[in-house]
Amino acid sequence: MKEIRRIVIDPGHGGENLGTISNENFVEKDITFLTAQTIYDELSKYDELEIYMTRTEDVDLSLKERAAFAEEVDADMVFSIHYNASESHLMFGSEIWVPLDAPGNATGYRFGEIFLSKMQDMGLHLRGIKTRESEETPGNNYYGIIRESHERGIPAVILEHCYVDAPDDISYVEGEESIIAFGKADAQAILEFVGLEPHSKEYESYTYPIDQVVPSTLKDNTPPEYCEIEVMDADYDNGLLSLQVTAVDSESTLLYYDYSLDGGETYSAIMAWPESNALTGSYADSFKLTIAVEHRTIPKVSVRAYNGFDLTSESNTISDFDGVFLDPVELLKEQQVEDSEEVGSEEESPLESYETVSLVKEEQKQEFTKAEVFVLLSLFVVLFIFFASILMMLLERRHKRKRRRKK
Ligand SMILES: [Zn+2]
Repeated sequence: MKEIRRIVIDPGHGGENLGTISNENFVEKDITFLTAQTIYDELSKYDELEIYMTRTEDVDLSLKERAAFAEEVDADMVFSIHYNASESHLMFGSEIWVPLDAPGNATGYRFGEIFLSKMQDMGLHLRGIKTRESEETPGNNYYGIIRESHERGIPAVILEHCYVDAPDDISYVEGEESIIAFGKADAQAILEFVGLEPHSKEYESYTYPIDQVVPSTLKDNTPPEYCEIEVMDADYDNGLLSLQVTAVDSESTLLYYDYSLDGGETYSAIMAWPESNALTGSYADSFKLTIAVEHRTIPKVSVRAYNGFDLTSESNTISDFDGVFLDPVELLKEQQVEDSEEVGSEEESPLESYETVSLVKEEQKQEFTKAEVFVLLSLFVVLFIFFASILMMLLERRHKRKRRRKK
């Protein structure tokens, strides 16, 4: 690999181009700038390096202008700084986009491995080191900064640190300190990559030939080959369903799963696939998933497996349960509603332990309810009237007999 000494840091977006805006008043162009500024400051401490930034203020710059600037300063590599967002606002994790062609591909891969490893250390889920080909002009890179830089013979990579609109990732971008932490991690990754700091880990990619494309970076066009579920346990009384989930994708890493309880109409939030590691390409072949089923329902359950390119495969659907799932907390609430209807409005905390539910039930077995007392009383009154009338009749007859005798 060519020695990398002249480095261009590209803070994504700028000026009118805001980039991603999340609900939390997060504007990508400002955060990428703070990240880039931190990288610049960290790398400037090394005399061996020449560091440039494509923009040093909040201005609009086209991707072509950015690449042209890199060419002007005779850059060895471009690092484009970004933060991600998804349409569903559910995706989370870090990823890096690298060039389609050699030697930029393997160069990008080597850096990507160190970068993702740093993101993993920070606790982020990994989405992989990937290429994206233009659909309009096949053979070309989809991302402008990578394409324009490639045309000028400069490898460029896009660092997508995390998703700023996802509940899982949002804490990573809260406060300036968090953004500076990303900048420092990036700088450390670059220093290890260019050989000015020792590698903090063993990186397999350094054995990859630089003149070849790394197969795992190429788009996996097919969804996971296999996804199946099996019931391990149906705990109806506690509303818990345990499944054995098994899935396979031989071309890319399984990253996430979600599940449906209504036959695929709606899905749960997306969750990290157990043991998923986009760096090593490994993931759990099979895992136990325990789901809390909605109170008094019989689910139509299925699971979706997501691969490294966000393609999904849906499992078989299971709906033949021989019981109804009950939620102890909901049961207690129902019991309380019944109680308040019967006894009046006796307020109780809605969240009581399961033990209380069974206690309440025990007590009720021994006591008569108001309705039962009413029925018993009515029966008593009816019987009283009945016997009273018979008594009256008998008395009446006796009276008549006495009168007859007198005659
Ligand atoms: Zn961006």
